[in-house]
Amino acid sequence: ESVDMDEFMDLILKRLRPLADKRSIQLSYESFGEIHASIDKVKFTLAISNLIENGIKYNVDGGWIKVSLNSDHKNFYIKVADSGVGIPEDCINHIFERFYRVDKARSRDTGGTGLGLAITKNIIILHKGTINVYSEPGKGTTFTVRVPLGEQ
Ligand code: ATP
Ligand code: MG
Repeated sequence: ESVDMDEFMDLILKRLRPLADKRSIQLSYESFGEIHASIDKVKFTLAISNLIENGIKYNVDGGWIKVSLNSDHKNFYIKVADSGVGIPEDCINHIFERFYRVDKARSRDTGGTGLGLAITKNIIILHKGTINVYSEPGKGTTFTVRVPLGEQ
């Protein structure tokens, strides 16, 4: 299905904004140009929502999340950057595994199962895309999703 990605992102942001507001986290969104892509809307909503929900969950009160949408001739890119607790270097290779959570004790308070990123990665792969993560403990984390635009 050819999807207007900007509209698609707006809807996700609108749905998650109350969650960010509750912790005074500034959720901003920037998009560059008109982008249409063939994605499974339902699955892709889940994939991107997981990333933004993590950005809220593992953030500090009063922090920020910056979401951006970009494209070149072949792919679109969604970036989700946060000012949260970050991910220790020795954990970063495991975060896409099912049921893996960095801080078991803290994670119990925040709730969840450790399935979010595994599901997100599977959906991205289903769309022939890639997901990358860069993190600085104590500073924040950035996830970058790249997905082919598909048949237009
Ligand atoms: P679920 O998504 O199932 O509710 P979860 O958020 O714990 O639970 P994942 O989304 O798979 O599970 O994330 C795995 C772990 O990676 C998290 O428990 C957390 O420790 C770490 N993590 C994920 N995203 C971030 C982030 N943006 N900042 C810091 N740590 C993160
Ligand atoms: Mg999660």
